[in-house]
Amino acid sequence: MSKKITIPRGTADILPGEVVRWQAIEKKSRDILALYGYREIRTPIFEETELFARSMGQTSDVVQKQMLSVIGSNNFPLDEDGAEKHFLSPRKIDMRGLYALRPEGTASIVRSYIENSLDKSEQLSKLYYIGPMFRGERPQKGRLRQFHQIGVEAIGPDSGSPYLDAEVISLSVRLLNQLGLRNFQLKINTLGTPADKENFAKFLRKQLTDKISKLCPDCQQRLERNVFRILDCKNKDCKAIVDALDVGHSHLSVESQQYYTSVKETLVGMGIQFVESAKLVRGLDYYTHTVFEISSSDLGSQDALGAGGRYNNLVAELGGPQVDAIGFALGIERILLALPQESATNENPLGCYVIALDQKSLERAINLVDGMRQKGLSVDMSYRISSMKSQMRMANKVGAQRVLILGEEELRNNSITVKNMSSGEQKTLPLGDVSSLVEQLGKV
Ligand code: AMP
Repeated sequence: MSKKITIPRGTADILPGEVVRWQAIEKKSRDILALYGYREIRTPIFEETELFARSMGQTSDVVQKQMLSVIGSNNFPLDEDGAEKHFLSPRKIDMRGLYALRPEGTASIVRSYIENSLDKSEQLSKLYYIGPMFRGERPQKGRLRQFHQIGVEAIGPDSGSPYLDAEVISLSVRLLNQLGLRNFQLKINTLGTPADKENFAKFLRKQLTDKISKLCPDCQQRLERNVFRILDCKNKDCKAIVDALDVGHSHLSVESQQYYTSVKETLVGMGIQFVESAKLVRGLDYYTHTVFEISSSDLGSQDALGAGGRYNNLVAELGGPQVDAIGFALGIERILLALPQESATNENPLGCYVIALDQKSLERAINLVDGMRQKGLSVDMSYRISSMKSQMRMANKVGAQRVLILGEEELRNNSITVKNMSSGEQKTLPLGDVSSLVEQLGKV
């Protein structure tokens, strides 16, 4: 017997019964995003690896450990470790000319914003995306290697406003509410300007230097390379050290503090509940000023529903104009996990099911089905002759509202028997032209 090929680890099939829930989330999100003036953008699912390394930061976990490289035949040999051959740490290789599956949306959107000179055509680009992202993580519940995000980016010369920060944060909350989520918590913080961030990094290094021997080996490295990552470390000893740190906002300039106060006041005015956390930093290099995270108590250890923040220098750092920007991304799988599990329902039940009882009827049925579909009716059939009982069972299974039966007697009288599956009513209608049949169907 030939070997069965199975789905790659950390990915999932979304079967038709489940797709209904996905489509509902996507549709509702699109409707809400349109209310806020966001327009959809679609970018490739792979980009030059360097784009992610330059935007997210060489020292970020995603770039260091989770990039899924797109392997071309001429690029480089596969990794020795067969099981993990799709992973090649960018640390080990020269990134030029290499591609990676996108681990997030922001870098691609900014690349596209610059490449298409969107700043020339609009003052503020409000863009959204819905689609798959890829990270080479160790899979577990709520953590996949291919997962899906709904994200927004507001980019443009006019986007450096605390009111926009508050609007973007409130949009993420309203979206989750409208999708049916209740038990979630919004955490916010500010990182300030790059100069403020540097002050903060110095402060943290000073606090942590004498504790370096107690930090995990990763964090010992992070102290110099990316000290903020220590604040997110899951190691028990690092966590205890971080918990004991007294972190405030003294590293912020007066302007940055005022900006943050305006964001908070606007959120309060909108009735958005939040908690402040001075240790919330987010793992990526590009954030400045406002950052936020949303987590749900309905989820297990992977409890983040979404996150975002402001990134005022990324567009310029990637070679574009000096414009401000802010965005967020929500994880669709996590949203689905946090929502109550409804039984799968078929949202688009079939209008009609045609049953043919002999060869001649079957030939007639094929044409009839084709004609009815052209009139806009959803209709299906079994394509083969079998007993009335078994075809009725199939009609029931697909949830047909009406069953149309064609047999010897019907063909002789140029008629068709129609049964309404909910009322049980049965009628014989003339099998003239499709238009008049379709019209009369509504009466059964
Ligand atoms: P991040 O860019 O890591 O802040 O991700 C934003 C959101 O995407 C998270 O809050 C999660 O909801 C979702 N997410 C991130 N990584 C994964 C993953 N590996 N599997 C499933 N969802 C994820």
